Amino acid sequence: MARRGHGLGARLCTLWVAYLLLLHPAAALYHTASETLHWFAHTARKLPDRMRYTTLTEDPTRAGVPLATLGRRPGTASAPGAPPPPRVIFVFGEHCREIITTEVGLWLARLLVDDDSGVRLWPELHSALERAGEAPASAGAIGAAGAWPDTIDAWASEVLEQLSIQIVPIESVEGRRLVEAGQLCMRKTPVTNVDLNRNWPFAWQRVADPADEQYGGPRPLSEPQSRLVKRLIDESPVAAYLNVHSGEWALYTPWDSKPAYGSGLPPDLPGLVAKLGDVCRCMAGPAGAVSGYLAFGSSMDYAYVNSKTPYPLTVEVYGSNQQGKLKNGAKNKPLGSFPIVYVKPEAIANSSSGSSSSSGSSNTSSKELRQCFEIFNPVDEATYREVVGDWLAAFLIVLRHVAKHVAPGSARQLG
Ligand SMILES: [Zn+2]
Repeated sequence: MARRGHGLGARLCTLWVAYLLLLHPAAALYHTASETLHWFAHTARKLPDRMRYTTLTEDPTRAGVPLATLGRRPGTASAPGAPPPPRVIFVFGEHCREIITTEVGLWLARLLVDDDSGVRLWPELHSALERAGEAPASAGAIGAAGAWPDTIDAWASEVLEQLSIQIVPIESVEGRRLVEAGQLCMRKTPVTNVDLNRNWPFAWQRVADPADEQYGGPRPLSEPQSRLVKRLIDESPVAAYLNVHSGEWALYTPWDSKPAYGSGLPPDLPGLVAKLGDVCRCMAGPAGAVSGYLAFGSSMDYAYVNSKTPYPLTVEVYGSNQQGKLKNGAKNKPLGSFPIVYVKPEAIANSSSGSSSSSGSSNTSSKELRQCFEIFNPVDEATYREVVGDWLAAFLIVLRHVAKHVAPGSARQLG
């Protein structure tokens, strides 16, 4: 959201950012965009056999979308002529203010490629895995806690060997830099004001007012970030696509645009989703049916319908006040209990009118800025570690599941 004026509000805002980034106890927990991208670039140079790093661009003179590819270097398969490994794509930092998502992406990459990463020792990660019924290999005399780091190490090597894991750590880099400069409420793209997760050509809807929080742009794929991520998805079959957000705790499957479960998804998906729901102890199910709202023109529906990705997921990693968390002992409804709505190819690039309600003002007070940060991002170390531990456990489970169920070279695309 663009701010007007550079008076007291702007100064307070700068003070708040200084407070947040320098004085707040959470300061040491968060990395700036520059630190994050530097880690990816540096680690790719240091460990080229495990990770490559590039920036996707349409025009070399303009900023693009950063992309890390983790896994065996292409052309180094154990057997000559072996088929390419299944591809899994993670997108973090699509909405600018949801900076915790980028932290999770950074820790995921560190867990997978960085042997010195202390995250493999985190008890929060171990207990999240145990909630899903996982156990470390050969706990034996040293006990589960002692055996977890070696088990996680073995799992990381296994998924790097079997998959190509593509991580977009920050999709909206320019917007993220503005968040760091104090615009803590910014969700959409700077200047064009587009919600990048409403800018895709499946079931896109025209929203008249660019101030609307769900404004999807003047047309589908109007934004370079959407076009670049779409190009990445379209390059070759995608086994799993995970679009990562914050604002609540939740794990969603298609549909985004209908209050129902999608047809044709793999028979093992309900079991996987139930397990992930146990990890996060949060809402898990079809987005449009359990979130309470429909999202039109989302990348998850595109990955599901257009790219025929068998495991399309949207993840909401954190919400303040336990938003999205299940009450003690509560369970999610099984996916099979939701009505199913079938894919209709003609729904692509639907341009019917949507709502045009306006929301928000560009004169954001410092209190609102602070609330914006706290609604989407944890501010204490215990919660930060809980978020990272839960979602690294969930993502490791997804990666191992895909490696087991999708054969190399077999697209296993939906029919
Ligand atoms: Zn979001």
